[in-house]
Amino acid sequence: MQPLLIYNTLSRNKELFRPVNEGRVGMYVCGPTVYGDAHLGHARPAITFDILFRYLQHIGYKVRYVRNITDVGHLEHDADEGEDKIAKKARLEQLEPMEVAQYYTNRFHQAMDALNVLPPSIEPHASGHIIEQQQLVKEILDNGYAYESEGSVYFDVEKYNKDHRYGVLSNRNLTDVINHSRTLDGQDEKHNQVDFALWKKAQPLHIMRWPSPWSEGFPGWHCECTAMGRKYLGNKFDIHGGGMDLVFPHHECEIAQAVASQGSDMVKYWMHNNMITIEGKKMGKSYNNFITLQQFFEGSHEKLQEAYSPMTIRFFILQAHYRSTVDFSNEALQAARKGMERLFDAIKQLDRLAGVADGDVKIEYANEVEQKCYDAMNDDLNTPIVISHLFDACRVINQVADHRQTITVEALEALKKVFHTFAFDILGLKAETNGSNDREEAYSAAVDLLLETRAKAKANKDWATSDLIRDRMSQLGFEVKDTKDGVTWKLNK
Ligand code: ZN
Repeated sequence: MQPLLIYNTLSRNKELFRPVNEGRVGMYVCGPTVYGDAHLGHARPAITFDILFRYLQHIGYKVRYVRNITDVGHLEHDADEGEDKIAKKARLEQLEPMEVAQYYTNRFHQAMDALNVLPPSIEPHASGHIIEQQQLVKEILDNGYAYESEGSVYFDVEKYNKDHRYGVLSNRNLTDVINHSRTLDGQDEKHNQVDFALWKKAQPLHIMRWPSPWSEGFPGWHCECTAMGRKYLGNKFDIHGGGMDLVFPHHECEIAQAVASQGSDMVKYWMHNNMITIEGKKMGKSYNNFITLQQFFEGSHEKLQEAYSPMTIRFFILQAHYRSTVDFSNEALQAARKGMERLFDAIKQLDRLAGVADGDVKIEYANEVEQKCYDAMNDDLNTPIVISHLFDACRVINQVADHRQTITVEALEALKKVFHTFAFDILGLKAETNGSNDREEAYSAAVDLLLETRAKAKANKDWATSDLIRDRMSQLGFEVKDTKDGVTWKLNK
């Protein structure tokens, strides 16, 4: 097993990954809220934890990856009307709220497929786990860390903080939290402004509501991940991930709920990806820089100079370490597209090259590239370093293609394996089958066919045909070389 180091937000250190249960990994990542289209900010956690999911499996673990769908709709209230987003859209469009949630869930899945993000093992919906969430609320009430008020149930943060510490993940103390908390709706029902809702009584306009011992209402947002994480991964599991913006209050509250209900935190490693900014600014509707993934793929937003393919977006995100910020700009995406093309060109070259018995590039070189790529992945999933090692190898491949170096047969095979393993299996890149790629492949196959015909003519001592093919190809700008191990070609543009 590879010695994988991952950064744990809780300990604020890189730690050697050792799963709770040998050989098996339980991983939970906060999924999307499905009341609108996924934007660039959604792509980052999806891709970051896709890399982790792929890599853990690649190094030999069985992984159960749970990523939820937040479809209860309570997350973002419309400040003016106090109405839940899904419910509001449903009312305006005369739809069943679940139709709205399903519509955006389907679109989210399409975007994830395009980005080559593997589906999780389980994708539970918050709306399908109301009973589990109510059970969690009861346990916290029974243990004395929550109170009922006007049909709602609130978590008693101050009481909890006396017995445990509130703020372990975000490294805050209760005084800081109190000083920074805003007065929000429902304030008068709470004993303290920092208390958060475990169950909310539904207002008359609220469509999504369920019966409970306290009122007809809906669960507080933080409940769903605690309840579903425990249901599918047990009361102690390995990894809980999400964007850095979820550290506080969401994940902090999840820890408090776990400790208040079962006496201990459920999670061994907390992992968080950093944010994407757009021209240095946080993304958000209020900044008018909120670009959906679909708009990126189509180039249909005023800030976009062109359409950017899903793989360009993926490559762009992987070119930064997941704990660094990434700033979007057209220039950065165009550079990512060029970089990715360079990588794919080298992979195509690899398939065309022929190895020789005593080449300059030997197996040790391929092994070294492989080890460097593993070392980078093992150092907290350092994908930009993996990519830079692959780029270094691209230069060597291009030198071989230009006949400035030769490569041994076994080094060639080993390099092919390194590129396929890291570029395709681990980084999850794939050749995009747009029209131009299909044309390029057909074109390569046609040139190969022509060269095969020439080789046959030579074998039959039909010099007239073989010379004709060689001369005409040369006029067209093809450089064909006969080596003792076969024929190579390239087009000099
Ligand atoms: Zn969550």
